[in-house]
Amino acid sequence: MEIHTGSCRCGDIEFCFYNDPINSIFCYCKECQALTGSDKWFGLWVARDNFKFTKGAPSTYTRAGNSGKDVNYKFCGTCSTTLCAEVTAGNFYSVSATSLKNNKFNPKMSIYASSAPPWAIFPVDVPKFDALPPELRG
Ligand SMILES: [Zn+2]
Ligand SMILES: [Zn+2]
Repeated sequence: MEIHTGSCRCGDIEFCFYNDPINSIFCYCKECQALTGSDKWFGLWVARDNFKFTKGAPSTYTRAGNSGKDVNYKFCGTCSTTLCAEVTAGNFYSVSATSLKNNKFNPKMSIYASSAPPWAIFPVDVPKFDALPPELRG
């Protein structure tokens, strides 16, 4: 079984998850833009049971997702790195690929492309969807 580890920038919070993610996605929605200060969030979707925090206690910010169910962002209260978003509608975590120690995963699709700013960068070889592709809707 493969274990992937990650942490926030200052090291107060550490996490790990088991096995490869269900999906790896560039999300260009407005929420992800606000969260990252960038055009997109690079999220690795990990089943809730395969993910855990191994050091420290993250802070939580909760918003209602598009489904109406909660999205819980877990971030470091010291350095403010967002480590993951718990998507309760889909029973998975969208883990920040950037916070992994050795990220070997590449994006498989770009979603919410219609919300992207005019200056957004889209990889040419990655399938692009205006919103959420049908197979990803819970
Ligand atoms: Zn930190
Ligand atoms: Zn998003």
